[in-house]
Amino acid sequence: MLALRKIERAVDGLSLDEIEAPGLPPSGYAKIKVSKAGICGTDLAIFNWVPFLRHMKVPVVLGHEISGIVEAVGEGVSRVKVGDFVSVESHIPCGKCYNCLRGFTHVCENTRYPGVHIDGGFAAYTNLPEQILWVVDRDVAADIAAMFEPFGIAVHAAMDGVGVSGMNIVIAGCGPIGLMTIMAARALGANTIVATDRNTMRLGEAAKRGADFCINVDTGDLKTRIIEALPNGPDVFVDFSAAAESIQVAGDVVAGGGEIRLMAAPAGTIELKIERWLHRGLTIRGLHGRRLFATWIHAMRLVKDRRVDLKPLISHVLPLNEAREGFREALAGRSLKILIDPT
Ligand SMILES: [Zn+2]
Ligand SMILES: [Zn+2]
Repeated sequence: MLALRKIERAVDGLSLDEIEAPGLPPSGYAKIKVSKAGICGTDLAIFNWVPFLRHMKVPVVLGHEISGIVEAVGEGVSRVKVGDFVSVESHIPCGKCYNCLRGFTHVCENTRYPGVHIDGGFAAYTNLPEQILWVVDRDVAADIAAMFEPFGIAVHAAMDGVGVSGMNIVIAGCGPIGLMTIMAARALGANTIVATDRNTMRLGEAAKRGADFCINVDTGDLKTRIIEALPNGPDVFVDFSAAAESIQVAGDVVAGGGEIRLMAAPAGTIELKIERWLHRGLTIRGLHGRRLFATWIHAMRLVKDRRVDLKPLISHVLPLNEAREGFREALAGRSLKILIDPT
């Protein structure tokens, strides 16, 4: 089968190779015939060979945002059966560490990921642990089911802490997950939503998906422009940008007692002036992945009840042999969600 792999420990290092399809799944695993697999920001970070991903297995088949059909099951598998249509949770928790034991499996100390530590979904077939498979109704399109993993991050971002209901919020960064967060926040009853980015195409999309104000961070002073839109400051500031300037502004504009949710990690050390943050009683929350599987349950409801339609966020569906083109478009910021079709 054809597979898109990371084969070299270097920038790019990707290769489209003919490899042997996985055999019968081992105990606890299911063999998935991949329907669609999305290109994620993590895949771009793997392409760019950022330091925090250099522990990954190489060579490895990339792709962790997957939908597909269960083709075979290994010994002891009970969560799924042959013929089930599934979406894939990308975190494989160990179930044994201190965090797992306390119910924080999404921040497991020993998390492994398909497409990083084990072969992922940019191929016709992949063997995955049953514990990360989520059965989806057949009436959900394969394209949509492949987007549940990133959509789960958006739903987690919207529901964490004090949530969004009745709140004025800023969403900084309008990549696919930022846009999904705008949609989830709208569906979950946010009051005013302010979106920021420097990509005009994405800001245009943010307006279409429910943002009331869209601010280009390169036009004028960011803090001033947020206060123009929300004179009392936002109740919640969700940051996907990982930019020091955005995080500093978050702490400076959030209303007293408000919340900052950090969704993306700055690449290195950043400097922040936090004196006023303490005096105003802010809460800062770091978020990672999705709650297993509480977030999936809530995300499914939004999709099934048609309160969120993820389809407009798909900008490209490419055959596997054009996956490189997908990476090029995503790296250039000319895309929303890109799906790879390995069938
Ligand atoms: Zn992802
Ligand atoms: Zn664990």
